[in-house]
Amino acid sequence: MSNKVLGIDLGTTNSAVAIIEDGQPHIIPVGGERLLPSVVGLDPEGGLLVGRHAYNQWGVSAERTVRSVKRLMGSGKNVEMAGTTYTPQEISAFILRRLREAAAAYLGEDVQRAVITVPAYFNEPQRQATIEAGEIAGLQVERILNEPTAAALAYGYGRESGGQPLRVLVYDLGGGTFDVSIIELDGEIVDVIATAGNNHLGGDDFDQRLADLLADEFERDHKIDLRQNHQAWARLFRAAEEAKIELSSVPYATVNLEYIASDKKGRPLHIQREIQREEFEGLISDLLDGTLDAIDQALTDANLEAGDLDRVLLVGGSTRIPAVWSLITEHLEREPHSEIDPDAAVALGAAVQAGIVGGEEIDAILVDVTPFSLGIETATFRGGRIKDDHFVPLIRRNTAVPVQKSEMFNTIFPGQQAIHVKVYQGESSVASQNVLLGDFMFDELKPNRSDGLTEVTVNFQLDINGILNVTVIDRAGRKQVSEQMKASRQRLSPEDIAQSQAKLSLTYADADETDEDEVVFDPGVHALLERAAKVLADPDVDPELAGDISDVMIAIREAAQEGDDEAVEERCDELIDLLFEAEE
Ligand code: ADP
Ligand code: MG
Repeated sequence: MSNKVLGIDLGTTNSAVAIIEDGQPHIIPVGGERLLPSVVGLDPEGGLLVGRHAYNQWGVSAERTVRSVKRLMGSGKNVEMAGTTYTPQEISAFILRRLREAAAAYLGEDVQRAVITVPAYFNEPQRQATIEAGEIAGLQVERILNEPTAAALAYGYGRESGGQPLRVLVYDLGGGTFDVSIIELDGEIVDVIATAGNNHLGGDDFDQRLADLLADEFERDHKIDLRQNHQAWARLFRAAEEAKIELSSVPYATVNLEYIASDKKGRPLHIQREIQREEFEGLISDLLDGTLDAIDQALTDANLEAGDLDRVLLVGGSTRIPAVWSLITEHLEREPHSEIDPDAAVALGAAVQAGIVGGEEIDAILVDVTPFSLGIETATFRGGRIKDDHFVPLIRRNTAVPVQKSEMFNTIFPGQQAIHVKVYQGESSVASQNVLLGDFMFDELKPNRSDGLTEVTVNFQLDINGILNVTVIDRAGRKQVSEQMKASRQRLSPEDIAQSQAKLSLTYADADETDEDEVVFDPGVHALLERAAKVLADPDVDPELAGDISDVMIAIREAAQEGDDEAVEERCDELIDLLFEAEE
């Protein structure tokens, strides 16, 4: 028998298995995927389905399929699957056996020993049931490990010899459960100081919110409630999850569902709906806000303040939603870590523990991360003033590479035909205080909004060698420009910072924080501003003249903002003169 020991994350939604190889934990793929959906089913012929196939069957025949059995572990309740009764341990054992088989295929030998993780709040009967599930699957369960402890181990915490005890808050938002744990690691000794959370909150709820929105809209348009048709609803739910996952890296996603229903005359009906990230985040914001209460509850129970924490770790697939990172950063006033794949961290940590049990040498997990944030400069036009030199990061520091992120931006002047894309690296919210990596012009923009502005998508793709590909896409004009630049692999030196500060571009005095609505111009003024914007977009325009033109444009906006028509008119005359000069 092999002396290897498997690390297993037996999750509510997904499970994973990992092992130490060459001193590092690795996820073992199951059926070509890193995660195995924790779903078990029987096909119509009575054949066993585990994982993706079972998950797919759930959409067609729920009565032959079992999901989220982890919730029932240790409860004494049983489940029905295709008319037969099973204990939760038996269903879990099907999952564990599948993981064990995948490991055997991958390693070329059967491994029977395992460390299996459970939530920190699992009680004795629940832990016992997990051990039994392992035994039914033919595994010798060496250790039951708390999930937050596993996550901390994946990050290499708690394995350092000596040193100060480390207080770690683990925020785990998965598919159907949400747990906050505060643990204290002191060498080999781990204490769970507090746990809080919600056993019925997770990615499924986010999918549900989005699916409900689409179903409501469909019902309004066609008087058909898709929720009444199990199959249609399952398709809608799955499409909602796909869109949700897409929205974690791109600013908008489209749900496309053909033949989702048919009307009274039997004609097919479809759903085609674009969802923007902001809209999605708005749908789930109350749920995400609620998770902050659990953090506070755990802190109170542990008798700690946010400032007492040494680390904050994000675990669970749902923490990939960008809003989660922002919320926690703001609430705890520190940047959480999520550079180890949040849905693999628990399995990787279980493998570390398994390696310790098996007497393996283990190195710290190597993750390639970008050591600083990468983003672009933006400007806003508010309250009659332009505020520029803002840095908006697209890829935050400590993000694992390779990575791809995109965001949507819009132009600031109606009719604006070009934008100057400036790419920076650094942590300052003032763009010019960061290091300029490169810049380029994007012109021939086609306004696609009623206010004359154009929406563009900026996409950053960073590879493991630090090569950054920046692509700007004008959705309406269907134009796309890409530039490649090199991001440095080290943190910035003070000289770099001084140098980039010296590059401080044109700034506008008295920029203030007022956040008033956009100004509405009368058509003549609007046309004039458009003409001016075109002139400014011309790279050959004399810089001094361009400066005068933009000053007058700003003055016009200010005057319009204040409702001073006379001043608007005067300034427009000035602008006309300047434009003549420029167009000569
Ligand atoms: P669990 O621990 O509950 O078994 P996971 O940690 O694997 O589950 O999380 C699964 C959930 O994470 C699912 O709801 C899935 O849709 C969600 N998820 C996975 N990837 C992303 C992503 N990129 N953005 C948003 N949600 C995601
Ligand atoms: Mg989990």
